[in-house]
Amino acid sequence: MSPSETALIRLLRQWRELGVEEMVLEHSDRRSFLERLAAGGGVPRLMSQGDAPEVGEERDTEEASAPGSYEALREEALACTRCRLAQGRTQVVFSDGVRHARLMVVGEAPGEHEDRTGRPFVGRAGRLLDLLLASVDLTREESVYICNVLKCRPPGNRDPRQDEIESCAPYLLRQIDLVRPEAILAVGTFSGRLLTGMDRPLGRLRGKVYSYHETPLVVTYHPAALLRNRGWTQAAWDDLQLLRTVLDGSGETSTLG
Ligand code: SF4
Repeated sequence: MSPSETALIRLLRQWRELGVEEMVLEHSDRRSFLERLAAGGGVPRLMSQGDAPEVGEERDTEEASAPGSYEALREEALACTRCRLAQGRTQVVFSDGVRHARLMVVGEAPGEHEDRTGRPFVGRAGRLLDLLLASVDLTREESVYICNVLKCRPPGNRDPRQDEIESCAPYLLRQIDLVRPEAILAVGTFSGRLLTGMDRPLGRLRGKVYSYHETPLVVTYHPAALLRNRGWTQAAWDDLQLLRTVLDGSGETSTLG
């Protein structure tokens, strides 16, 4: 067996371990692949090119989990043990809302309710977020994708630690790439700092429109902080109106730096 065939077989096995169940063969046929791979076993289900769906045709859920796909990312995160938070979580909290969203809301980390339900932004803070979004005609059922910087709950709801953010941030950055929202709303200090790249207090991050890889980004207070500090409500309202102007196509963008 040639080195390239060996490398290909190793790749196929890695894909299989990542949950890829089938793939399309462009330059070979199923039988010759099966002969080469028979010794190893555990390979993806193979389809000849003619079996593949037409471009634009609905693909089934197995193919949707191909490497690099949204579903593959989600499956990887649900099994993640990259940082210490894996030990204490009930479940990984990956996202809520709609996959093809106009707005992506990025919070900080799951709390107790989120850890139990598997959904970000539930409980009182979640209801306040829904009210804020409704004030600018957005809902998580129709137009918003919601996630956090950290996918697992820090014990006792403590602040995220820097090494945890570094471990988990690649998931968020891929989510942004794959969801491709029209705008991002970062709620809270940790998501605001991560996405703007600025180590500033939230009061100095909010009130502007940034550009995150050419996607407009607005930063505002976390709903849980608003519940504790009612005096920030007006500022949050102003930030939501700023976000609305962005989605309407009339917001001005600040330069990151
Ligand atoms: S917080 Fe993120 S990096 Fe840490 S275990 Fe959970 S998913 Fe993995």
